[in-house]
Amino acid sequence: MPNCSRCGFKLPEGALFCPNCGSPVRRAEERQIAPSESIARPITLGLLGSFLSLTISSLVSFAEVQLYFVPYFIASLIVIYFSGTRGLKDAAIVSMVTYLFTDAIVAGIILGSLYAANQSLASLYMDYGVPTLLDVLMYLISPVTAILAAYIGSKIALKRGEAITYIREEGYGPPLFHGVEDLKGEALKRFK
Ligand SMILES: [Zn+2]
Repeated sequence: MPNCSRCGFKLPEGALFCPNCGSPVRRAEERQIAPSESIARPITLGLLGSFLSLTISSLVSFAEVQLYFVPYFIASLIVIYFSGTRGLKDAAIVSMVTYLFTDAIVAGIILGSLYAANQSLASLYMDYGVPTLLDVLMYLISPVTAILAAYIGSKIALKRGEAITYIREEGYGPPLFHGVEDLKGEALKRFK
């Protein structure tokens, strides 16, 4: 159980203010809570990325050489950029989820349609012929391009994410965990 940073009073679980002296609870506790709450955001963004990736795939065909991951890469970059995901860890989760879910959905559609039509896998690949060495190499490096998308995306991302992160640092009042949208809610709580 943590103690108040000002008066040393033993704080109850989840306290925003010290019951003894009324000073706001330190940020050390905020850091412990933040990681588990922030995981939902990059995963949601990754899901958005996979739908964007499927949309790009349906509009442009990259099938000639095995450049099938190009839409994944573009979608990851777009989502990381516009969501302002500037942290490399979060950006990596966004791109990994984008790649993984796009793969799962594509494979699900292909296998599902074969299942529904009662056709064999061989019937699907009949027209393709022998894969080239380039096909093999492109397939093998595709996860590396996910990391690359995360790295580039986090470097060029819009500054929106930064604003949400930094607003917690501006002291006075209870720590804000959820970014700008909860400012009003937190303020109302304080005046009740
Ligand atoms: Zn105190």
